[in-house]
Amino acid sequence: MKLAKSLNRLGTETAFSVLAEAKKLEATGKSMIHLGLGQPDFKTPKHVVEAAKKALDDGHHGYVLSNGILECREAVTRKIKKLYNQDVDPERIIIMPGGKPTMHYAIQCFGEPGVEIIHPTPAFPIYESMINYTGSTPVPYDLTKDKDLKFKAEDILSLITDKTRLLILINPNNPTGSFVEKSEIDKLAQGLEKHSHVTILSDEIYSRQIFDGKEMPTFFNYPKLRERLIVLEGWSKAYSMTGWRLGWSFWPEHLVEHVNKLLINSVSCVNAAAQFAGIAALDGPDDSIHEMMEKFTARRDLIYKGLNDLPGIECSLPGGAFYAFPKVKETGMNGKEFCKKAMHEAGVAIVPGTAFGQTCQDYVRFSFAASRDNISQALENIKKMLK
Ligand code: PMP
Repeated sequence: MKLAKSLNRLGTETAFSVLAEAKKLEATGKSMIHLGLGQPDFKTPKHVVEAAKKALDDGHHGYVLSNGILECREAVTRKIKKLYNQDVDPERIIIMPGGKPTMHYAIQCFGEPGVEIIHPTPAFPIYESMINYTGSTPVPYDLTKDKDLKFKAEDILSLITDKTRLLILINPNNPTGSFVEKSEIDKLAQGLEKHSHVTILSDEIYSRQIFDGKEMPTFFNYPKLRERLIVLEGWSKAYSMTGWRLGWSFWPEHLVEHVNKLLINSVSCVNAAAQFAGIAALDGPDDSIHEMMEKFTARRDLIYKGLNDLPGIECSLPGGAFYAFPKVKETGMNGKEFCKKAMHEAGVAIVPGTAFGQTCQDYVRFSFAASRDNISQALENIKKMLK
């Protein structure tokens, strides 16, 4: 049977294969510490769950507007005002079934053969997958060139050509946990002002997971770029809602109609009860976020020190999200070999750096969305494994 050739250009998320392999080993009786998947290990706040239950009890069972119910889009704009003091038109907000569809639709809006799309490497793998799927040319900027795995404005700006249509930024980044501060983003935004043919896709899904009290350098700060700005955001990470499949995005006015059509041609709309839950999350107290960040900070400190104390392992300090991305080259293994040994000998499931970009052979990703006990045990097991 003949299938579309474009299917061969789609990539995947290796973290799910790591999970499947770890589960197989667990079924044979091996114990496993899961530091593979990137999702908060907390429950969705109770008042958020209650809002979804109430929405179902109140009869919100049918289709809703493809771009999202107005109350939900308005809750998003209220939160943008509260967090960033920026006014945003709710007609430019689109509610999505998760954060991921925003990257999918944004790349579909711009990608085709002959077009260049600039993206970070390493990065959440769906970006490169989608760029390749549309047949456009990926133009990577390599974060591993910097010891702290951060990008520099001038490096990104130097990659822009006449063929560039889209620039992808992920800050804080998955898988590196690196966070680029506002002063550098200011420089980048200023440089982008003169490249009026380039649209910016700013993935800010980890905006509420920034350490050490630093400010989130959102692209909403730059009104001059708004007509060519897409912001990918959502509830998954901030409110532990990965399984609800709920996200939101901001779009240039001229794209709203096209993205709506893409939604109507695929999922129709996001389920209403999830959107009511989303309103409760945004309008409710941020206590759960503060509690989560307290825990994540302790875990970040634990894993950062623990990894650097291991022989042959070098790790930069994660500034955001919940990932550590150490270099393991000096252990004598590459990232893939290290992960295999970690899973089979140490009972620790982690993801090889190459799952996120080809320049990352010597790296592995630890998700520290796990208890301190589990993180300590994993470090202990790996220490033994390296002896
Ligand atoms: N962007 C980044 C950088 C991510 O790491 C992820 C998920 N791990 C997403 C977007 C997608 O989020 P969601 O689960 O809401 O689709």
